[in-house]
Amino acid sequence: MSTRYQGDPRQITAKFSSTCHTCGKKIQKGEQIIYWPNGKHAGHLACDEADYRQSLASFEDEDAYNRMYR
Ligand SMILES: [Zn+2]
Repeated sequence: MSTRYQGDPRQITAKFSSTCHTCGKKIQKGEQIIYWPNGKHAGHLACDEADYRQSLASFEDEDAYNRMYR
């Protein structure tokens, strides 16, 4: 089993109420959240979406660099 992508954040539906690690407010069950396996924490989509997209984009950047300098 590959563990390469284990730490990647992902957008999921909250299965239980918790607290957003970014704004400290409550996350309601059923809300769309960003889950960060590395830190085992979650944040509102609105709070963490920018970080989430940046994290995904960094993988794409790597591919772009690989192509550029091949
Ligand atoms: Zn939040």
